[in-house]
Amino acid sequence: MTYTEKERQLPVYADVDVLVLGAGPAGWAAAVSAARQGADTLIIEATSDIGGVATSGLMSHWTGNTFGGIYEEMVDRTVNKYGANPKLDDNEMRKYIDHETMKTRAIEMLEEAGAKILLYTSACDVIMDGDKLKGVIIENKSGRQAVFCKTAIDCTGDGDIAARAGAEYFKGREEDGAMQPMTLMMQVGGVDIDRMEYVYSFEDTYNVPEGDIQQLAGKYIPHPAGHVLVYPSVFPNTVTLNMTNVTGVDGTNADDITKAYIKCRKQIPQIIAFLKEHVPGFENCYVTKTAAQIGVRETRHFKGVKTITHDDILAARVFDDWAVPNVQFNFDVHNITGAGLDKTGSQRTFKQKKAYTIPYGCLVPEKTDGLLLAGRNISGTHMAHSNFRAMPICANIGQAAGVAAAMCAKENIQPRELDVTALQTELKKLGVYPR
Ligand SMILES: Cc1cc2nc3c(=O)[nH]c(=O)nc-3n(C[C@H](O)[C@H](O)[C@H](O)COP(=O)(O)OP(=O)(O)OC[C@H]3O[C@@H](n4cnc5c(N)ncnc54)[C@H](O)[C@@H]3O)c2cc1C
Repeated sequence: MTYTEKERQLPVYADVDVLVLGAGPAGWAAAVSAARQGADTLIIEATSDIGGVATSGLMSHWTGNTFGGIYEEMVDRTVNKYGANPKLDDNEMRKYIDHETMKTRAIEMLEEAGAKILLYTSACDVIMDGDKLKGVIIENKSGRQAVFCKTAIDCTGDGDIAARAGAEYFKGREEDGAMQPMTLMMQVGGVDIDRMEYVYSFEDTYNVPEGDIQQLAGKYIPHPAGHVLVYPSVFPNTVTLNMTNVTGVDGTNADDITKAYIKCRKQIPQIIAFLKEHVPGFENCYVTKTAAQIGVRETRHFKGVKTITHDDILAARVFDDWAVPNVQFNFDVHNITGAGLDKTGSQRTFKQKKAYTIPYGCLVPEKTDGLLLAGRNISGTHMAHSNFRAMPICANIGQAAGVAAAMCAKENIQPRELDVTALQTELKKLGVYPR
C-alpha cells in the first residue's frame, strides 16, 4: 500500500558552502576540515552526539592506522585520565575511547573551526537538478526544512543521501548481498582485571578452568552470538565487550535494525551469565552501559570514479591520485552466518604490514555531482571495506573529503573536476602525505 504526500512549501534552514550529513568519525572530521579551510560549513546529525559508532556506538578503541591525520588530534585531545591500566602501558591505552570526553572534544573542535552544528536532525531527502545534488531535506522537531549547499558530503555510514540522489551502489558481498553482522556494544564493570585476560581478536584465545574460552562461548552462548572479544576500557575494573551478534539483517531497513537491537538485548544476560560462571575475574561483573546505537558494520558500497579493492590493499598500492595515505589494517570480516571470524577474514594472521592509499576517486560518486562520500560508504569492494571501515581510516577519509569539498565550493567546481594535485598540496600542509 502507498500514500501520496501532499505537496508543501518548506522553510529554507540554511544555504552553505559545505553540508556534512552524519557526524561519525568521517562526518566530524569532514566538517572540522572544511570549516578550517574557511568554508561556511553545516553538520547535521540524527542523534545528540558527535562521534557515530565511536561514541553513540560505545566503541572500545581506534583500530588500524593512518600514521597521522586528524584522528591523531582527537586521540591527543581525549587522552585517558582515569588512571593506569594494570595490563597496558599509557601508549597502548591512547587508542581506547573515553566516550563522554570525546563527545565534548568533538563539539569543541567543530566550534573552534567555525562549523555550524544541527543535532537531533535526520537528512531524509534530496533536492536535485538532474544528476546534481543542490540540497537536502532535513526533518527534526521544527518539522521539515530545506538546506542548500555547494557541496554535500554523505557521512551517514549507510550513504542514505547518496542513495536518494540516485548514486549507484550495491550492498554487502558482491556475490549475494550478504552483509556483516550487527553488534550492540556494552561496557561491563565489577571485573577483576588482574585475574582476567583481554581477548583482542577472534584468533586469540586462552584456557579457563573448563577449557578453551572461545570454544566454551560457542557451547554456552546461543547462536548467532558465541564468540569472545573483551577489550580494555578507560575506566577502572571495567571492560568493553564486542560479543552480541545478529546476522542476516540490513542496516538500511528499520524493521531489521529494530529486530537486531531487541535480539542483542536478549543476548546480554546470556553473555553475562557465561562470563560469571565460566571466566575467572568476571564472577561479580555487571552491565554498566550499552550503546545508544546498534553497531552496523556494512551496508551500501557506492560506485565511485575509482574503486578500492582487496588486491590494492594486499599489494599496498600507492596511487598517484591518493587522498588518504598510510592506511594500514586487516580484513576484518565477521562471520556472515554466525559467531566469530568469516572464512575470508584475517585479523592477527593478516600478512601485509605495508600501508596502502585510497585514491580521491573513491570519494566521488561515478555519476552524481554536488556530492562526496566519506567513511565506510566510499567506493570499495566488500573485502576492501572490511579494512577501510576502521575508524582512524574513516576519520582521515573525512578529512580529505572536507578539504576537497571546501576547495570545490571556493572554486565553484564539481568534486570530479577538482585537481587532485592541488588537494594533495593542501593535505600535505596538514601533515598528510605518503610516508
Ligand atoms: C560493532 C562494531 C565494532 C567496531 N569495532 C571497531 C573498532 O574496534 N575500532 C575501529 O576503529 N572501528 C571499529 N568499527 C568500525 C567503525 O566503527 C565504523 O566503520 C566507523 O565508525 C564508520 O564511520 P562513519 O563515520 O562512516 O559512520 P558512523 O560511525 O556509522 O557514523 C554515521 C553517523 O551518521 C548519523 N546518521 C546516519 N544516518 C543519518 C541521516 N540520515 N541523517 C543524519 N545523520 C545520520 C549516525 O547517527 C552517525 O552518527 C566497528 C563497527 C561496529 C559496527
